[in-house]
Amino acid sequence: MTMRRKLIVGNWKMHGSHQTNAELLEGILGAGPCTADVAVCVPYPYLSEVAVRLAGTPVRWGAQDCSAHEQGAYTGEVSATMLKEFGCRYAIVGHSERRAYHGESDQLVADKAKAVLGRGITPIVCVGETLAEREAGQTEAVVKRQLSAVIHTLTHCCSEIVVAYEPVWAIGTGRTATPEQAQAVHALVRAQLHAATPHSADMTLLYGGSVKPDNAAALFAQPDIDGALVGGASLKAAEFVAIARAADAPLPAAR
Ligand code: PEP
Repeated sequence: MTMRRKLIVGNWKMHGSHQTNAELLEGILGAGPCTADVAVCVPYPYLSEVAVRLAGTPVRWGAQDCSAHEQGAYTGEVSATMLKEFGCRYAIVGHSERRAYHGESDQLVADKAKAVLGRGITPIVCVGETLAEREAGQTEAVVKRQLSAVIHTLTHCCSEIVVAYEPVWAIGTGRTATPEQAQAVHALVRAQLHAATPHSADMTLLYGGSVKPDNAAALFAQPDIDGALVGGASLKAAEFVAIARAADAPLPAAR
């Protein structure tokens, strides 16, 4: 029987300063250990200071994006090799804000995941439908299409990724998917992975979209929800820690 560890990842987005980062990390570290794995994905310029502060602690760190290219004339981009030099354990790829504001295609997201994985960093691949797509009954088709590109590009290595299901209508809106809505999509995601890899039962599937201390436990109680990608609430140490604590409950058995 497989027991998946819970994973709680903070996505700081474009927030932070030297001072607020230091305060936030002190608040997180000061809360002491928890049974879930915890990580923060921070803006590129702060990777260095965050790496220095978190080295030797149980809290891991990562980036919010990564170039699909290895190196070269790609002004403004940051490579997976560079992220590795800063000790990144994770890199978010395909966040809906990047898909929407930077026109990232399913294939580009898959290529980014491949570049990240090639440097031994775990890609956190975000998938999720917009409100219009949900209302049109397209949730399953959209999520399947987004994940397919990644599965086909990574082939057998697709078991090494973390998938974050983030319904776009729930991100930063205060409108969380119900635990049942989230679980339904997570089950589809795991079934799709199951068809692609024998390791699907071991894979970590995160939910993201207005996760807060008061809704986290119910989400984490679902059999296919292994943690959260947390935006807004990851900027307040007490809230982020409370969400991580909600994952301390006994883990459900994998199917
Ligand atoms: C996110 O940015 O990935 C996210 C889920 O944001 P929020 O928790 O603020 O909805």
